[in-house]
Amino acid sequence: MLLIDSKDRRYLLTLRPGAMFHTHAGIVAHDDLIGCLEGSTVSGSTGRRFVVLRPTLADVILKMPRGAQVIYPKDLGAILLAADIGPGMRVIEAGVGSGALSMALLRAGAEVVGYEIRPDFAARARANVEAWVGDEVPYRVEERDVYEGIGEVGIDRILLDLPEPWRVLAHAETALRAGGILLAYLPTINQVAELRSALRASAFGLARTFEVVERTWHIDNRSVRPDHRMVGHTGFLTSARLMITDSSRDA
Ligand code: SAH
Repeated sequence: MLLIDSKDRRYLLTLRPGAMFHTHAGIVAHDDLIGCLEGSTVSGSTGRRFVVLRPTLADVILKMPRGAQVIYPKDLGAILLAADIGPGMRVIEAGVGSGALSMALLRAGAEVVGYEIRPDFAARARANVEAWVGDEVPYRVEERDVYEGIGEVGIDRILLDLPEPWRVLAHAETALRAGGILLAYLPTINQVAELRSALRASAFGLARTFEVVERTWHIDNRSVRPDHRMVGHTGFLTSARLMITDSSRDA
């Protein structure tokens, strides 16, 4: 559940009969939340009121336990369309980190195989996916280095959130089906430049790079203006599609 207090502070919790939820704004008994309708308000021990809702995927991603930095909701939404993710698509994702992107892909119906070099992050991603998306989704995380190769063929989409995606292009050319999409998420434009130059020398075409700028607004009666604070930068998205080249046709 998601609890929201009067100052818009958000708390994510998994309900267990008999358990208590402690915040500095008071204690809430899980039993008071179990069975209550979404959108209702409950009181904590100090009389503070909390609105009760099921969390959205974005709420979960911003509040769940993290090892690595997660991809933010504004970018996750754009990634789903830029990489054209749909039900039943076979997707390789590397590295998996805390599993935020995995959750968005699974919710969109993809079959996801994650590659992650750090066992602790792999375990964290599996636990987050199981807790918030469930254990009946097609999801597997392999503890391996994607720079050393991809052990699959006929893959529809490859999504990369790691420092040197250009080192994956040769593997991606054999793992992806023709027309498949590769998408990389990178924090600096220097990395984007290196990736774009590697893409130019590869069998990929239709390369495209963009960023998503989200500016929220303060709307209060007669005061209507952009919020003072915004997240100024997260990452750049670069996508490309695998083409048939003369050398791949001969092979
Ligand atoms: N997209 C993730 C965050 C990924 S953070 C999310 O939304 O939650 C980047 C991850 O890439 C880290 O967990 C790191 O351990 C992993 N990584 C870095 N290099 C890698 C490699 N060569 N192969 C597999 N995983 C790698």
